[in-house]
Amino acid sequence: MESRVRSERERLNDLVGQLDLRTKVRLLTGETPFTLHGEAGIGLRPMAFSDGPTGVRGLVFTGGAPVALFPSATVLASTWDEDRLKDVGRMLAEEAVRQDIHVVLGPTINLHRSALGGRVFEQFSEDPLLTGRLAGAYVRGIQGKGVGACLKHLIANESETERNYVNSVVSERALREVYLLPFEIAVDESDPWAIMACYNDVNGVPGTEQHHVNVEILRDRWSYWGLLMSDWYATKTSAAAALGGLDLVMPGPDGPWGQALVDDVEAGRVPEAVVDRHVRRVLWLAHRVGALGEPRRFPISTPAPDSAQRRAELRELAAAGFTLLRNEDGLLPLSDGAKIALIGRHAVDTVCMGGGSASVNPPHQVSIADGLTARHQDGLTISDGVPVRFRPAVAAPDTLSHDGRPGARLQAFAADGSTLRDEHVTVAAQTFQAGDADREPERISIAGQVTVDGPVEVGVLGTGRWTVLVDGTEIASPELTAAGHDPGEVVLIPPAWTTTVAQASSVEVIWERVRTDPVPTPDGRIGIVPLAIAEGLGFKGLVLRPEPADPGPIIAAAAEAAAAADVAVVVVGLTPDEETESRDKTTLALPGEQDALVRAVAAAAKRTVVLVNSSTPVLMPWEDEVDAVLVIGLPGQEAGDAVADVLFGDREPAGRLVTTWPAADGAAPAWNVTPDENLRLEYTDDLFVGYRGWFAEHAPAPAHWFGEGLGYGTWSYGEVLRATGIGTPSVVVDITNTSQRTSREVVQLYFDPKNSGEPVRLVGWAGVEVEAGQSARVLVSSEARLWRTWDETADGWNRLPVTGEFLIARGLGDVRARIPVS
Ligand code: BGC
Repeated sequence: MESRVRSERERLNDLVGQLDLRTKVRLLTGETPFTLHGEAGIGLRPMAFSDGPTGVRGLVFTGGAPVALFPSATVLASTWDEDRLKDVGRMLAEEAVRQDIHVVLGPTINLHRSALGGRVFEQFSEDPLLTGRLAGAYVRGIQGKGVGACLKHLIANESETERNYVNSVVSERALREVYLLPFEIAVDESDPWAIMACYNDVNGVPGTEQHHVNVEILRDRWSYWGLLMSDWYATKTSAAAALGGLDLVMPGPDGPWGQALVDDVEAGRVPEAVVDRHVRRVLWLAHRVGALGEPRRFPISTPAPDSAQRRAELRELAAAGFTLLRNEDGLLPLSDGAKIALIGRHAVDTVCMGGGSASVNPPHQVSIADGLTARHQDGLTISDGVPVRFRPAVAAPDTLSHDGRPGARLQAFAADGSTLRDEHVTVAAQTFQAGDADREPERISIAGQVTVDGPVEVGVLGTGRWTVLVDGTEIASPELTAAGHDPGEVVLIPPAWTTTVAQASSVEVIWERVRTDPVPTPDGRIGIVPLAIAEGLGFKGLVLRPEPADPGPIIAAAAEAAAAADVAVVVVGLTPDEETESRDKTTLALPGEQDALVRAVAAAAKRTVVLVNSSTPVLMPWEDEVDAVLVIGLPGQEAGDAVADVLFGDREPAGRLVTTWPAADGAAPAWNVTPDENLRLEYTDDLFVGYRGWFAEHAPAPAHWFGEGLGYGTWSYGEVLRATGIGTPSVVVDITNTSQRTSREVVQLYFDPKNSGEPVRLVGWAGVEVEAGQSARVLVSSEARLWRTWDETADGWNRLPVTGEFLIARGLGDVRARIPVS
């Protein structure tokens, strides 16, 4: 095997030797937003990349053909189940193969440092071991089917504010022992074919130029041979990035390499051998995914996103990650005859995914109302809840009509006035992809008849010069610019202008491109927002929606419905306004009047179940007033059916929390995600990330601990023994399922290096399914990498002083046994 790999690498050297400098450099920047250049002379075909990580979207930033939408990463991780994650990888590979995609841009394995992080929903956990192991399994699942995976984003990219320029300031110990650990484990356990470098700086050096991380650690210490690509538009330099270990600049066709890198080589600033190494890694990836020489043979058919097989798989997967945090008197599961009042905007408009590059265009999204209606025909009432979305959003298709059909008329014009498009669109927004000349208009108009009666919010979304006309009269001409320095901001959280009009029968908005000078960052580097604007990405669309309803009568009606039922099921949560790439949160409070809704329902109902439809922690000030709390995260396209399965006990909500839930805003070891005026974001929690900090009392007691989750079983723990003769310290524990049903337990093993100043840490876990009344003997081995400390002076690992205690726990709030370790 080794020698086959060696001879393959020699063959790659030969191929690289056949290319001139210009051709080699060309291969090191994408050809389009999501594809690479081919080179027929050496048998290299273009490779296609796709986001990732909760579906395979295809070669577009938004929209695209319908593809399967998986539960978000936190739901997947809440299963604490490597076998399941491997199976997720298998399904993602099938999605990729169906679309001729070679590399899936996932998993995202940054850590849940502050719950405010906009992309926390897309990442597995606050714990590095759990993250690394699950990522390894996910990658093995994808790559086992011949499709590449891509760990992202290397490194210290835990929040979104100023993400392209923020300087994450992290101690070398925290970097090695906490943030790099998931990458190290996943590299070791799954040999990912690609890794993506982050946008941000780390200790003053951009991720794309991080010689320390990208070369000294990744290549030299971990012997990683895969491809290191940049995040989209992240690369800021030529020589520094090429010498800093980056192999590939994304996206294309333009970028900072090209002629600049050719010049750098010719001027001797970058040795040609460095370029050769980068090209060799591109070719090695191509070899692995079947884009070099002999094409790989893939299965002829793979399950469609809405096939019965895929639907059943995604439904089961979601339920396995749902996490039960409260269940007074065993209220859940509900009995079949129960009269249920289902309440909440999230019940009728269930949020199935987060925002940004992790979003896809699914074939359907089963709401909880639809799922319960299908499962529970009689005695179900459904009440819409209070408004939950407050950011301006593009008009829904049914709010406008054109030519008697839902939607609007879109016209796009080139600089010379010629018409590029004149068409009916169902959504009053359109994405114009960069780099596609006839899709880069100078002026765009969207117009339609308004189908909503009464007061409406009208406006525009996106950077550019706008004219807004209501009933043929111009009412405003706002010019909108982006405030920050990040292209993601232009695309994902564009600026908006809106107003409320008492009544409108027709509306038209006209957008004109504005070219502005680059916006310098405070440290003098040039922002790249104007590039995105110039490429037409600024235009987002027309805003139109009924004015938000008054919450008072809605809450009163919900309480009335709750009083008439046996059980009220209230669904609350966040939306992609909060859980999204490009933007961090400012609070964990539920948006709008959702807390008031829960309280009113709980006061009126006989029993109340709250379903939390968010992947990241929220504050639950009403928790003691309700009977059950079930966290369903962002459950993917089969959401409602999976919820019905769990509410009626067809499946167990077997999840365990993957992150600690703070009891109040700010009550956490790490909170701030906004860099200072010099763009520094200090990782002040150092080694005490998440539960490690809470356990050391660096923050007030949390509402719920990492690792918590009741399931539908009940468990007694017997004697715990130290297992001997198997390398790392390990334990054996007998557990008994004392409930009336088969259940899955996750036995968690933590090491507390008592009074040593070192943080507590999860060192291992084991999941086991046990039938009612039965016992199981469970072996939990600890991970060797958790017994190390990084010695900055010696530039090497020391053994952690092994005196302390093993904690055998169901989350650190429910420790079942302690045994000394010395
Ligand atoms: C994200 C990446 C993503 C890329 C391509 C970036 O904005 O940070 O995670 O893979 O876009 O869509």
